Amino acid sequence: MLPQDGTAGDRGALLLLDLDRFKFVNDTMGHDAGDQLLVALGQRLKHSLSSTASVYRLGGDEFVILVAGSPSHGKVEDICLTVLSLFAEPFQLFEGQFWTGGSIGVTFIEPDDRSMSTVLKRADLALYKAKDVPGNSHRFYELEMATEACVKSEIEHDLSRALEQGQFYLEYQPIVGIESRAIRSFEALIRWNHPSKGIIQPDLFIAAAEKTGLILPIGNWVVKTACLEAARWPAPTGVAVNVAGDQFKDRAFVGYIKACLAEAGLAPGRLTIEVTESIFSIDPLIICESLTELRAHGIRIALDDFGIGFSSINNLRRFPLDQLKVDRSFTQAMLGNQRDADLVDIILKLGTTFQVATTIEGIETEGQLEFVRALGASEAQGFLISRPVSARDVMGILARETVQAGSLSA
Ligand code: C2E
Ligand code: MG
Ligand code: MG
Repeated sequence: MLPQDGTAGDRGALLLLDLDRFKFVNDTMGHDAGDQLLVALGQRLKHSLSSTASVYRLGGDEFVILVAGSPSHGKVEDICLTVLSLFAEPFQLFEGQFWTGGSIGVTFIEPDDRSMSTVLKRADLALYKAKDVPGNSHRFYELEMATEACVKSEIEHDLSRALEQGQFYLEYQPIVGIESRAIRSFEALIRWNHPSKGIIQPDLFIAAAEKTGLILPIGNWVVKTACLEAARWPAPTGVAVNVAGDQFKDRAFVGYIKACLAEAGLAPGRLTIEVTESIFSIDPLIICESLTELRAHGIRIALDDFGIGFSSINNLRRFPLDQLKVDRSFTQAMLGNQRDADLVDIILKLGTTFQVATTIEGIETEGQLEFVRALGASEAQGFLISRPVSARDVMGILARETVQAGSLSA
């Protein structure tokens, strides 16, 4: 048990340790194995820290390590490394040996800390950051973590009203055929016009929308709006819509997409659904069924940001796809770095092997465009061609294209 007097007590440091894969142990080996793992870890902690710190179990798979006195940053750092070194050996469970790891959030206890819960909150923010790093790691609390958490919780709060208050809109970025440079489709990209913060880009709120479940109504709004807006464009110009994995957990989603197409009067072949590899961590059966049903209806499926996730060849074999989009981090690096150039080449060859079209994202220079054209990419997207534009500007761009095509053929 932690000290219960409600005060943080001495100057000192608090380490909050969280175990990796504890849920996996409980779910797959049973709760007895989970208990055994906790006891074994507790013993290791007590044994190695007995002279330097006190160890408490906070609950679940979280342990608190309290270092009394006024330890230096270096000493606390050493304690963190000692704790993480305890995961170097496997744990002996009834079921057999089990390797696991941990993450630590660290904070110093300040003189004006009025309660242990304040200290734990800081350690928790640092732990959250430590968990972002794969494998064993520790992070010391920094003030910016609290500011960031505050902004995040404000965003979560404001997000819940943004849809009904009509604060979202879509921008569209052209995707062109690499040889003709003619526009084939536009990718719909959501923007949030926040009443006091101004325009917020999706990278800052999609994760919050996923966390709160708001991605379902917001995602539905995106599909519907993109279909309605694209229906005004001349055929066969297509529209690509980004879809988060959680949206497929709603078994009505595929039917909803079809209904949006019907309502807008947009031919299914003009819609591409962009998914990232993270969807494959959701129930593979649901994903496979959903993608198959969408394709059977004539809708295209693109695998977005390919190369930075699992980049699993098996996913390309198992799931029905029409298009691979090579992540823009490769585009940025490929001309200065042989390894990335080779990787782009390999991904494009994978496209040929699996008979799917390939789009290169993030093209910013003629040199990049020429490079991927020579490697055989089918389509390109990026600031060189155009930044994302408003729905109204799409009409202007398409009208200009039609005039140019007309004058070329005349
Ligand atoms: P994405 O699907 O990979 O979209 C491409 C992103 O790259 C867009 O950022 C686009 O503005 C940016 N981009 C395009 N060309 C270039 C370039 O040449 N250079 C650079 N530096 N960037 C370029 P954006 O609009 O900020 O979107 C970020 C991500 O947010 C998207 O990545 C997508 O994953 C997600 N997103 C956007 N709209 C939606 C949506 O409606 N639903 C969901 N679930 N996710 C969305
Ligand atoms: Mg995309
Ligand atoms: Mg992408």
